[in-house]
Amino acid sequence: MSEGLLKRYGDYLPLTADTPMLSMGEGDTPLVESRRLGKQFGIGRLFFKLEGCNPSGSFKDRGMVVAVAKAMEAGHTTILCASTGNTSASAAAYGAAAGLETVVLVPAGQIAEGKLSQAVAYGARVIKIDGNFDAALNVARELADSYNISLVNSVNPHRIEGQKTAAFEIIETLGDAPDNLFIPVGNAGNITAYWKGFKEAESDERASRLPQMMGFQAEGSAPIVKGHPIADPQTIASAIRIGNPASWSSALVARDESGGSIDTVSDDEILEAYKLLARMEGIFCEPASAASVAGVIKCSRGGMDFSSSTIVCIITGNGLKDPSVALALASHPLEESSADAQIVAGIVGAQLKQ
Ligand SMILES: *Cc1c(COP(=O)(O)O)cnc(C)c1O
Repeated sequence: MSEGLLKRYGDYLPLTADTPMLSMGEGDTPLVESRRLGKQFGIGRLFFKLEGCNPSGSFKDRGMVVAVAKAMEAGHTTILCASTGNTSASAAAYGAAAGLETVVLVPAGQIAEGKLSQAVAYGARVIKIDGNFDAALNVARELADSYNISLVNSVNPHRIEGQKTAAFEIIETLGDAPDNLFIPVGNAGNITAYWKGFKEAESDERASRLPQMMGFQAEGSAPIVKGHPIADPQTIASAIRIGNPASWSSALVARDESGGSIDTVSDDEILEAYKLLARMEGIFCEPASAASVAGVIKCSRGGMDFSSSTIVCIITGNGLKDPSVALALASHPLEESSADAQIVAGIVGAQLKQ
């Protein structure tokens, strides 16, 4: 049985004797080594951390289990979040498991269908806000200030605590920290959490070194790279369509302390990486997740030498979250045939050998 993060990493989390040991089997996600992409782009060793294998299909579950357990401990009966999709799916799942009421605020018309269907299936109250994610988060913060409810966005420090456990897992699997960690950046909670996790592990001597943190924002939604909030962020990668990140300053700290960088990738680069991951590695992720791999490709093409580097890319969410993108990018049109083996053989043609 999968024991979950609170049992496995309780010593490193803000738990007390009264914290319920909530678990849906989150964490302990696969770290798989690249079969072909790493070679193609001249990388010593390239790994993918498959966070889409978490119970609600994204890394958000790592932080949510801690935030919801702490909400229960505090005696709250309602949890609230604003979300581009995955936070609402995760909050709704853990809210259901914990027997709490979940209210989610989503930007109207901007949330992928898979994610919305999850929040609905788990029984959350879903309120579509006439505005973007940043506007929804402002509303959520105001409500949490005035009412007795738990805000479970990553401005809740328990979310960051839970999410840092992914850094611990990478160190356990590799035996040490990697040279570089490539990660998509939206609200910037995750890059903050990984950096915290790596630093804690190094100071406890569970790792001998720290990775360079390489964050990537989508070009049309890159406030940290541009140095100012973006009023109307645009990108196909809806999970990182955020114009005013809540964890902006801690992302800069992660970048600067690690000697890393936060850069942009275009939607075309994101979609190229999304296709390559699926077709060369068999990994189906959502577009935002592919920003990490797009970042590796961009750096490699730009002349960075990774030939003796160990690199980990965080694959933040599952491709089923946003199936419309996959269908729109299909390399062959879907073909049709009557139910006749000869006719199908004729269509498949040369690829069919006896
Ligand atoms: C939330 C999310 C991100 C962005 O993470 P931040 O902590 O907001 O920077 C990236 N990818 C996916 C799939 C997400 O759900």
